[in-house]
Amino acid sequence: MPSIKEIMETMEYGPAPESNTDVKRWLDSHSGGISHFINGKFVAPTGPMTDVINPADDSVIATLAKGTQDDVDAAVKAARAAFSKWSALPGYERAKYLYAIARHVQKRERFLSVLETMDNGKTIRETRDIDIPLVARHFYHHAGWAELLESEYPGFQPVGVCGQVIPWNFPLLMLAWKIAPALAAGNTVVLKPADLTPLTAQAFAEICVDVGLPAGVVNLVHGDGETGSLITGHDDVDKVAFTGSTAVGRMIRKQIAGSGKKLSLELGGKSPFIVFEDADLDAAIEGVVDAVWFNQGEVCCAGTRLIVQEGVAEQFFGKLDARLQKLRIGDPLDKTMDVGAVVSHTQLKRINALVKKGEEEGAVLHQWAAELPKKGSFCAPAFFTGTEPAHTVNETEIFGPIACTMTFRTPSEALEIANHSRYGLSASIWSQNIDRAIEAGAKVKAGIVWINATNLFDAGAAFGGYRESGFGREGAREGLHEYLVATSGKKGKPRSATPLEASVSPNLGKGELPEIDITAKMYIGGKQARADGGQSYNVMGKSGVIGQAALGNRKDVRNAVEAAAKAGGWSGVTAHNRAQILYYLAENMSQRRDEFAALLSASNGSSTKAATAEVEQTIRRCFWYAAQADKFDGAVHATKSKHVTLAMPEAWGVMGIVCPDEVPLLSMMSLILPSVAMGNRAVVIASQAHPLLASRLYQVLETSDVPAGVINLITGERDVLAKTLAEHDEVAALWYCGSNENVKMVEEASIGNLKAVWTDGGFERDWRDDSQGQGREFLRRATQIKTIWLPYGE
Ligand code: NDP
Repeated sequence: MPSIKEIMETMEYGPAPESNTDVKRWLDSHSGGISHFINGKFVAPTGPMTDVINPADDSVIATLAKGTQDDVDAAVKAARAAFSKWSALPGYERAKYLYAIARHVQKRERFLSVLETMDNGKTIRETRDIDIPLVARHFYHHAGWAELLESEYPGFQPVGVCGQVIPWNFPLLMLAWKIAPALAAGNTVVLKPADLTPLTAQAFAEICVDVGLPAGVVNLVHGDGETGSLITGHDDVDKVAFTGSTAVGRMIRKQIAGSGKKLSLELGGKSPFIVFEDADLDAAIEGVVDAVWFNQGEVCCAGTRLIVQEGVAEQFFGKLDARLQKLRIGDPLDKTMDVGAVVSHTQLKRINALVKKGEEEGAVLHQWAAELPKKGSFCAPAFFTGTEPAHTVNETEIFGPIACTMTFRTPSEALEIANHSRYGLSASIWSQNIDRAIEAGAKVKAGIVWINATNLFDAGAAFGGYRESGFGREGAREGLHEYLVATSGKKGKPRSATPLEASVSPNLGKGELPEIDITAKMYIGGKQARADGGQSYNVMGKSGVIGQAALGNRKDVRNAVEAAAKAGGWSGVTAHNRAQILYYLAENMSQRRDEFAALLSASNGSSTKAATAEVEQTIRRCFWYAAQADKFDGAVHATKSKHVTLAMPEAWGVMGIVCPDEVPLLSMMSLILPSVAMGNRAVVIASQAHPLLASRLYQVLETSDVPAGVINLITGERDVLAKTLAEHDEVAALWYCGSNENVKMVEEASIGNLKAVWTDGGFERDWRDDSQGQGREFLRRATQIKTIWLPYGE
């Protein structure tokens, strides 16, 4: 034992291990293997068992069996059976269960912290101070939502049975993020924990029993990816929620395409951490510790791309190296450790392979230089200097304690580097100039922005990404939507796809010279455009052919997307200006009321009265969305810490819109208006059967000051064009109101950039009914939430 004098000289920490006696006792009592939890009962595992390893010392601490098809079937059946009663409970009753779960988590806080540390390898400081308190907070917060559901979400109902799959990096916290909102909204769940970290889920099941949660409301089936896939693909699951790698997210998107299941994906990231030269550098250095070395870097939103302004870069990297060497790495149960073990040797190998790749590509590695523990999967934290944006280590999620650094000269260059990523989960921005920081926060493509902070989480702040980091949000008011569906009216008939043939000339059957021969056109980039292939198709009216429309092809779609991409200025104009243009559109449409009505009658045979009513309602809808343009806004959330936490709805960017044939003018405008009111630029595939309305519409657009590229109209074979739109990587979101048989095709085609796809399942709807054809749900779907955390106080 060192003397007091020696301690005072070295100022070394002594050992401060947290006791694991209780946990060991608990593990002994589960030596028969971790059970599934199905219909309120612990189901003994069957089949071959695999070991659950403590990554800090490689010891086997439990065993686990893989859930089979029978286990998954039984769990889904139990969840289905429990759903009607659970969803019918008054919110107050559901709230009491969630509240009791939160209380029990708090009562077992120390036990759960130690168990999580032993299962995952993360330090006790993190499980004790971050993971487990946040788990309790999540259940408390959602107990509140259960209580308020009816009054705060009128017109919505629970989705049904939720299939949820979670990763190993925050095992109990991810479980809480999934289960708390699902239950609050009245759903029942079947969840699969990661096979590397199943233990706190077992402890959670025991809490469910202790609080008397009705059987079947929560079901847990353990196993690997195959078991996960049995859950996500199960026919009787209504909603899938997944957190994990982008690769598996894509597989799930494909697997459930066309099934009608609701989907939210929280995937990978490669988040920027921007340090301006006027930043508080010492604070930013501590920020890096929390951004990259927290949780061994096994964090989807880790700020692993450090982008530092040239003037301070050298100084910053020097300070960072000094701080790196001071990190304490070792036994995660020791309360003085900063970094524990990574989750497994497989993960360690993956990290090391990427580190090697970084060095091979020419980057310089600055690594923690002391000795790692002999046992366990420990990884020395590090950072690279001299990396280029295109280096593998800058593009690939390393999921280990390794940062990459780059430098920049101007703020715009910083943003260019920051946005040079297929991901868009989070961003951390450091500057003492609040104007500069907020400006960068607004321009960075990320679902979560931390100003002069990093890795802040709270149940009251939405979490989720842009681009290939997935879609949907977890937490807060916004996150609850993932577990609700609009209570819609009766479904209409399924729409079908009709192949089109090019026609050389319109067969009007008159054999006369038309007054002026009109070439059918589309509208791209503010100009009338002939079809790339030069082809047209005959448009049938109530009494035969009434004209020709341009037969667009994939090139036309690409041109339209390019035009829409160039019209980015629209997303930056004020909401007031957007509203003015929509009012102007209404005004100009009203002047052509009779023309539109006559064309509608000729197209679909509706009576003059019905056609006039459709035009009238379309004009009203212009007014409604013009009114909403500057009123559908965000919120300031009451998070726990000293932050103003903003929830800002942002436009997706380029949206694809595929229109149906029913009430063709009203339906087309019901889709275009919310999209552009929120600042998107739309590439619209007009009704295939009634395309002439699109040509009439662009004449109105041309006189209504709609900037070029904001609304682009394509005509032709709907589902052929929709496929190109769904595959296009520049299109961030797609609304598909096409044929029932092609919903699957469109959802599958969207996996390239994991665009958010909203379909109506290919069923006709009553667009005249405001509850189906208009509303805040359209505006919500036209935006994605960016959460911005702004600190205040000294
Ligand atoms: P995965 O995405 O494979 O795993 C996440 C969860 O999905 C686990 O429960 C896994 O099961 C399950 N799963 C795997 N395949 C399927 C499938 N086809 N259908 C349904 N569920 C499935 O991540 P890994 O654990 O393999 O980690 C690999 C890399 O992914 C990491 O190095 C990291 O880069 C990234 N990652 C990102 C996370 C994030 O939050 N963004 C979280 C975890 C990993 P099981 O693990 O039990 O086999």
